Formats: sequence, C-alpha cells, structure tokens
Amino acid sequence: QKLDARNEMHRIAEYFEGVAEEKGVHCKVEAEEGVVVWADPVLFRRAVNNLMVNAIRYTPEGGTIHLRVTPGPDGQTISIINPGPGIDKAHLPRIFDRFYRVDRARTESASSTGLGLAIVHTIMKLHGGRAEVESEPNRFTSFMLIFPKQPDTIVVTGHMANNARDHAGVERNEA
Ligand code: ATP
Ligand code: MG
Repeated sequence: QKLDARNEMHRIAEYFEGVAEEKGVHCKVEAEEGVVVWADPVLFRRAVNNLMVNAIRYTPEGGTIHLRVTPGPDGQTISIINPGPGIDKAHLPRIFDRFYRVDRARTESASSTGLGLAIVHTIMKLHGGRAEVESEPNRFTSFMLIFPKQPDTIVVTGHMANNARDHAGVERNEA
C-alpha cells in the first residue's frame, strides 16, 4: 500500500534518536513532501531499520547519517548514507549474502549475525525492487532501496507471511 516516504523517514529518525544521541551521531532526513512508496509498512520499516542499525554502528562520533528520499521516473529510492570506514570493493558483491560480515573479529559480537542485509535484500525482492550499495573506503557507505513505481502484487511467502501483518495488496502464499 501507499506509504508517505517523508513521514516514514521522520518516524524512523525519531525512533533512532536516542541511540544516535548516545553515540554523538546526527540523523538528517532529506525528503520532499508527497513522495509515495508502495510497500508493506512492516517490511519497509524492517528494511530501513536494519540499514539504520548498521549506519549508527559505523558512523564515528559527530558524524551525520542522511536518510534520503529520491523520486525517480520508474520508482522511488530510499538512501541511508553514513560517513565511516566504508566497505572495500572486494566485499561489495557478497554484502547482501546471508551471514556475510566484512570484519569477523570486529563483528563477532553476540549482536551481529550477518543477516541484516540479507533480510533487506529479501524484502526488496518481495516488493519487486532491489537493494544497492555504494561505498568509498574511509569515507562513506550508501545503501539504496529502490521501489518500483507501482508493483503488481506483493507476494509474501513462508515465515515472512506469518510476520507480516495482513494488508490489502499483500497476497498470502504459505505454500
Ligand atoms: P546483523 O545485522 O545480523 O546484526 P551484521 O550487521 O554484521 O549483523 P549485516 O547487517 O548483514 O550484518 O551487514 C553485513 C556486514 O556489512 C557487516 O558485518 C559489516 O561488515 C558490513 N556493513 C554493513 N553496513 C555497513 C556500513 N554502513 N558501514 C560499513 N560496513 C557495513
Ligand atoms: Mg546489521
């Protein structure tokens, strides 16, 4: 269904305000009014949240995370951009793989499973869109969620169907 992208990004920025502040990190929403994204709200928020958790983890103190909405001719792009160590080119092709983590020693903590981006990837596929990444080592990382203008139907399968709320436009398929 239709989501007001600007409103969603403000809600998410607000949600992360506390943790960001604790780290001395700023969040800045850059979105014009009236941009609509066709998405399941629960899955949309899950995807952006996963990107935000990573962004906050890697942003140095005093840094600013940008939550950007960019309307395009064949869809809308949601970007989460953060300053920080970046991701080496060699790792980019596998970054959306399950359990893939760049720096094991650094991410071997209990809270890191390497699933966050795989979930993002799956959610975007369910919406007929895609996730992309751009990064410059020691400078920034940018994750982009590209939503098609108006997907035919969102088909939610398997365990995700159990987690997703029932919404008009979301077809259940629990084969
Ligand atoms: P989980 O999300 O399951 O708690 P995770 O954060 O390690 O664990 P992903 O979110 O899938 O897993 O991210 C995979 C890896 O990509 C991370 O371990 C990290 O190495 C790298 N990464 C992700 N986002 C960023 C970022 N914004 N800046 C730098 N590296 C990143
Ligand atoms: Mg993560």
